[in-house]
Amino acid sequence: MKLTSSPRLAQALADMGIHSFADVLLHFPYRYEDLNLTANGLYHDQQRLVLQGKVTSTPSIFRRGSFVTIRFTIKDQHGHLMHVIAFNRPFLAKMIVPGDTIMVVGKYDAGRQILNLINAFKEQTSESIKLKPIYRLPSTIENFVFTRLVKKALSMMDTLSFTSHVPSDIRQHFALADKKESLKTIHLPDTIEAVEKAMRIFKVEEAYQFTKTMMAIRQDNEATIKERMTPIKTGSVIDMMEALPYALTQDQMQAVNDILEDMNGKRRMYRLLQGDVGSGKTVVAALALYANALRKNQGALMAPTDALAKQHFKTLHELIGKQGLTIRLLVGSLSSTDKKAIKESLLNGTIDILVGTHALFSNDTEFFSLGLAVIDEQHRFGVNQRDLLKDKGKQADLLMMSATPIPRSLAMTVYADMDISTLTQFPFAGRKVKTKIVEEGDALIDYAIKAALEQQKRVYIIAPKIMESQSGKQSVITLYHQYAKRYPKQVTLLHGKLDAEDKEDALHAFTTGYTPIIVSTTVIEVGIDVKPATLMIIHDADTFGLASLHQLRGRIGRDGSEALCLLVVQDQALEGLERLQVLVNSNDGFYIAEQDLQLRGPGELMGSKQSGLPGFQYLNIVKDQEILKNIKKILHF
Ligand code: ADP
Ligand code: MG
Repeated sequence: MKLTSSPRLAQALADMGIHSFADVLLHFPYRYEDLNLTANGLYHDQQRLVLQGKVTSTPSIFRRGSFVTIRFTIKDQHGHLMHVIAFNRPFLAKMIVPGDTIMVVGKYDAGRQILNLINAFKEQTSESIKLKPIYRLPSTIENFVFTRLVKKALSMMDTLSFTSHVPSDIRQHFALADKKESLKTIHLPDTIEAVEKAMRIFKVEEAYQFTKTMMAIRQDNEATIKERMTPIKTGSVIDMMEALPYALTQDQMQAVNDILEDMNGKRRMYRLLQGDVGSGKTVVAALALYANALRKNQGALMAPTDALAKQHFKTLHELIGKQGLTIRLLVGSLSSTDKKAIKESLLNGTIDILVGTHALFSNDTEFFSLGLAVIDEQHRFGVNQRDLLKDKGKQADLLMMSATPIPRSLAMTVYADMDISTLTQFPFAGRKVKTKIVEEGDALIDYAIKAALEQQKRVYIIAPKIMESQSGKQSVITLYHQYAKRYPKQVTLLHGKLDAEDKEDALHAFTTGYTPIIVSTTVIEVGIDVKPATLMIIHDADTFGLASLHQLRGRIGRDGSEALCLLVVQDQALEGLERLQVLVNSNDGFYIAEQDLQLRGPGELMGSKQSGLPGFQYLNIVKDQEILKNIKKILHF
């Protein structure tokens, strides 16, 4: 049966990987709005209120620049006349019609006797749902549209089938519920506790599959004894180290040492190099690739984006380019002739080191003698791609790098199969990024930009993540126009949908300072290294995970000067801002990653995917450690 008769909706769903009604049900809410009406009519300051009632005034709209404020009044269930105010959600004007009954959720400001709107619902009023599922959707799909699809899917449950790969002893051990029943609960819950129970089968399944993968990798590693490769002479690597433009930190030296020992060992290296943003992982990778070239093996360095691959390519040239090695770059933007030429020289062995995106490991790239593969920002690629190297070089050593530090206590659970080197020091000892939370429109924003421009620095403006279709967050394009107007000829735009050439132009303009301000989505989150950048302004900062925000601000202050990160929010009174305080108080990536996982409230059901930790969809590696541990025990791993 067709999902929808609207081709546009069908396409939007297909883009999310949703092709069937079963897929619809496997797209879980990322949180629930508690819609139990506020029982008591004596409201106190900052209380979260859920009110229902008739709209008693036509909404009035105020515009200041692109900033829109909407006000209206309702008569709520306790008979109070309540003034409601909503920021930057112009679409509400159409939805709020005098005489209609609606439901509003907001924070009460006792001083102004006004409700700061968080959410408004129309379709809700006819039903008795108490926990409203909120889905993570692209801006083209409204939450209520998706909810409708979910309902249709639930009504067809009998015709749908869901497979489960968990063996019966594990099912029994965890007393798992039926999958279909669980799905019903997840989409139409009575209580959060019920949802948590229903999630269990999905978590256990994921943990089971993860553990099986780990076991397979370990077995494979243990079974593969490397053929005798020429041992790497440590002395030559030390010579190379000394020729570098800077002295390595103690941690970096230790990591290089670990790597050389692995590479000279009997089994293939399977090592994770983890370290906070800016801790200097690239140079360690460069030395490993150099060492690998010394034993006459080819090396590969894989990055998640074209921009990062190009940057690595440049860095390798700067660091080890004078050693007569042939280093090449393979990215999507190359012409097919160039790609073909590169693939040929890769196969005949003339290329020593190949840098690129995942195209490096596509079916038609073949190496002559792959000895070392380095995968940067490995969490971006997910667990399943770890063994993508298998048929490229069975003997190849593998080095993975991640800037999302796993809290120490968890590393063993998540990376049970890997050896780990950790960089805890920063090359620039004094490097400090100050972080502040400000409201949209705060004078500090322009003040800071002007100061940065005067000092010939660079400024990142980050556009918010689109979370819910109705959130009305400012898009990257709107922000760009806003800033371009205020700072003519000084702003460039970067986002994922630009074609490769435009992306390159934008980054080039920014790096060279031709346009010292860049308005960007989080595509710059990974690895971009522009030294003179000292200011970052993140709009709707509350829509990001803490680990992401920490990654983002790691882009500034890299030339050793003082840097400032402004976390911009619509309103300081909004819910969930306490979370951001963690970033103001700490610069320790490990601590932040842990807090990020712990601070997710009971309504937050996502796995750790959003926090940048390895690709779990359902499991939260802090809260669900028990599940992982028990499965390991049952499987004797
Ligand atoms: P990340 O760990 O985030 O990938 P990078 O490898 O991009 O960090 O390094 C961040 C910056 O620090 C780069 O500009 C790099 O040149 C510089 N760097 C790395 N190691 C050192 C060092 N030992 N001394 C001085 N600068 C260093
Ligand atoms: Mg990096």
